[in-house]
Amino acid sequence: MVRTTRIRVETHAPGDLHDLTPQVQEAVTASGYRAGIATVFVAHTTAAVAISEVEPGLRVDLPAMFERLVPADLPYRHNALNYDDNAHSHLRTSLLGPSLTVPFDEGRLLLGTWQRIVLLEFDTHPRSRQVVIQVLGA
Ligand code: ZN
Repeated sequence: MVRTTRIRVETHAPGDLHDLTPQVQEAVTASGYRAGIATVFVAHTTAAVAISEVEPGLRVDLPAMFERLVPADLPYRHNALNYDDNAHSHLRTSLLGPSLTVPFDEGRLLLGTWQRIVLLEFDTHPRSRQVVIQVLGA
C-alpha cells in the first residue's frame, strides 16, 4: 500500500534551506508501516530536495556553491525568450532533481546522524511549495 501526504512549504528567499525531516518522519509514523521507503517529491521546476547536514555554515555554503556552478547573471535563453529572470533557478534545480527516497525500519527513517531531508529554494522570490510524501511499506 501507498500512503500519500501533501505538505506546503512557504519559502522566503533564494537559497532558503528547509528541513523536511520532521514532516517525513510524521508521514512514516502515521502510515503505521514498520518497514519500507519514503519518497519525497517537490512539484516545481525551481526548487529541489536533497540530503544535507543542516547548520549555519552550510546554509551559506550551499547557495554559494550553486552560484559558482550556475551563476545568476549569465545571458540565458530562458530569460530572453520568456521575459523571465530565473533560468539559473531552473538549471540549479535540474542538477539536484525533484525527489529522493529514504528507507525506514521499525517505523524510523534510516538517516545517518547528520543527514536531514531538505528542500532548497532556487527561485528569485518567495514561493509556496507543494511537497508530496509517499510512504510504501508493510
Ligand atoms: Zn522561469
